[in-house]
Amino acid sequence: MIKISEPARETPVRAQVDVLVVGGGPAGIMAAEAAAGEGLKVMLIESRGYLGGNLTIGLPILAFLDVNGKQCVKGLPQDFVDRLRKRGAATPHYPCKLHMSFTMTDPEADKDVALEIMKEKGVEVLFYVFASDVVKEGNVVKGVFIESKAGREAILAKTVIDCTGDGDVACRAGVRMFKGDSDGGMQPPTLMYSMRGVDVDALRDAIVNHPEEFDMDTMPHEQFKRDKFITVGLRNQILKAQAAGLDIPVARTILITGLASDEIWVNMTRVSGTDSTLPESYTRGEIIARDQMRVITEYLRRFVPGFAGAWVDRVSPFMGIRESRQTECEYMLTGEDIISSRRFPDCIAVAGYPLDIHHSTGGDCTMVFATDNYDIPYGCLIPKGVGNLLVAGRCSGYTHEAMASTRVMSTCMAVGEAAGRAARLALRQGVPPSALDVDVLRKELKDTGAYLG
Ligand SMILES: Cc1cc2nc3c(=O)[nH]c(=O)nc-3n(C[C@H](O)[C@H](O)[C@H](O)COP(=O)(O)OP(=O)(O)OC[C@H]3O[C@@H](n4cnc5c(N)ncnc54)[C@H](O)[C@@H]3O)c2cc1C
Repeated sequence: MIKISEPARETPVRAQVDVLVVGGGPAGIMAAEAAAGEGLKVMLIESRGYLGGNLTIGLPILAFLDVNGKQCVKGLPQDFVDRLRKRGAATPHYPCKLHMSFTMTDPEADKDVALEIMKEKGVEVLFYVFASDVVKEGNVVKGVFIESKAGREAILAKTVIDCTGDGDVACRAGVRMFKGDSDGGMQPPTLMYSMRGVDVDALRDAIVNHPEEFDMDTMPHEQFKRDKFITVGLRNQILKAQAAGLDIPVARTILITGLASDEIWVNMTRVSGTDSTLPESYTRGEIIARDQMRVITEYLRRFVPGFAGAWVDRVSPFMGIRESRQTECEYMLTGEDIISSRRFPDCIAVAGYPLDIHHSTGGDCTMVFATDNYDIPYGCLIPKGVGNLLVAGRCSGYTHEAMASTRVMSTCMAVGEAAGRAARLALRQGVPPSALDVDVLRKELKDTGAYLG
């Protein structure tokens, strides 16, 4: 690769804050909200022009409830849903045999509610800036460099929380990062889109009345008698479509009823081999996914009951990333920890979703269920070898297997809340986040309504 030298330059400091949250997805929103208070200056930066990250691409929030139907995520994430419900912009937590529970929300209301909270809590939000590097002194993170239309600037912070999903800050800080399984294979991404004009009753009736033809993976057909549901199955229909020459990239038809009565979100494009940390790879993925969308739409219209007169209504503004970098942290949660429902004395969040691994090649998926929920320890938020940095959300300290469970948004939100509270409490104690008395964090989490078992 050809390289060029850049001249040394002085970089303007745009802001100096106490806590800087990088990335405004489900984890980042909760982190910023939880960090705010006690007169601290909290800033949330986001490369897009709205908050919400993957929460805005038409996905339901999975697993507020655990495998036994017990609510294992409460606290600020529940408060977020309560605010949405007051505006008629979220469903209740519907129990589901495959997903533990699902909570559908309105993507536009998600953006509004997130901003409303930031305003209430006095969090300064800055859009359209990309954190491209870190300001470091020795092994201590002192802030980030950002790039935007205003050029290159720095934001200095006493504590930085990396909620970028891809672990951009941790990576630039030199923390060891991991990608995928032992062969580097990562769960593939999906470009979500919605269809309107769907006869949802016709779809439901087909599944309920003809389960032998309209098959659902392990889900009892009674589950489809209610208003809202997620289909994961219709494998027979995909086989028929493939026999008719349609190139469908997945083995299962995943459809999610939207908030409008004729609306379905389609979770079926899949571009194996995409790496969201490489722009040329992500670009290729976006282009292929748009082609797939056209074929899948034809499949739905021709082979799935209720879709004959349906049209594409909204396409998510970006292809959603299931997996990229994981950060090496003081503790790396494993699939075994999850399956054995392991308890940790420094538990800062409880999660209840199975290991749900969309295969890195081919179109199928493996799900492994536990019999109870499990703990997430504080060590999963503390990157190894670098000070004043926390990582929260998809990119926290989880192995490839473990992240297949912890990646769901209820868990990302709960972990984001813990990271935000930890940042504030550490500043109050005058110690780096790695030296925080976790019992104090656990007490605050419990006192403010979080569920820790
Ligand atoms: C197709 C698909 C289906 C899924 N299905 C479900 C589901 O049904 N239910 C469920 O609960 N979960 C689901 N998930 C998982 C879930 O959506 C994600 O794991 C979760 O949203 C991760 O949250 P996060 O806050 O860590 O990251 P994200 O939601 O990715 O948010 C990260 C934010 O950081 C910003 N950002 C990134 N880098 C930078 C940077 N360098 N500088 C500034 N800003 C930056 C991004 O723009 C984004 O807003 C699915 C994921 C995908 C992709």
